Amino acid sequence: MVTNAAMETVPARHGKALHVAAGSAVRLVNTQGNQVVDTWAFQRDDLSEYMSMAHSRSVSSRIYPALGDIFVSIRRRPMLRLVEDSSPGRHDTLLCACNAAIYEEHGCAPGHRSCQNNLHEALAALGLAISWTPAPLNLFMNIPVQPDGSILREPPLSRPGDHVLLRAEMDLVVVFSACPQDITPINGTSRTPQDVHYSILAADA
Ligand SMILES: [Zn+2]
Repeated sequence: MVTNAAMETVPARHGKALHVAAGSAVRLVNTQGNQVVDTWAFQRDDLSEYMSMAHSRSVSSRIYPALGDIFVSIRRRPMLRLVEDSSPGRHDTLLCACNAAIYEEHGCAPGHRSCQNNLHEALAALGLAISWTPAPLNLFMNIPVQPDGSILREPPLSRPGDHVLLRAEMDLVVVFSACPQDITPINGTSRTPQDVHYSILAADA
């Protein structure tokens, strides 16, 4: 199956990009339980093929991903599969990554960190760059859809130590952003972003 590996940190308010080979998996732990993690995936050798929430919803016919669901690329090829989820299973596929404009709307001073900047900063750390920001998979983000079609922004339902395990279906660059949102309660009512931790579980030979 898989071999365990050392835990790495995605520091609060920051991002991390990692190579994940086909067949291996990433275990992401919501260490404090309250942290939303914006997540992207790109084909390792061609970043123009990236994980698409719109196509993934089209394939799964669901708004909230369920255990076993596959997240596909804009070419509808499998990229990641949700193979474990110890949380109550509430993850968001609808909302954009937070960016500078959102924090400006909130009245924050310029320079507030954002998931969009975290994505590009993290890719740059691997020597990579893209000119756009795909819609992310917002792990642990609790955005209930109401019967009238409106949405709420609620604190995560996840608990300390909850984890998801995402298996790579092709060679990928995966990016995590520990969302810096500290104005709304989407990272918990304390509005205090926290570190999260991950490990890559290599496929056994
Ligand atoms: Zn964010």
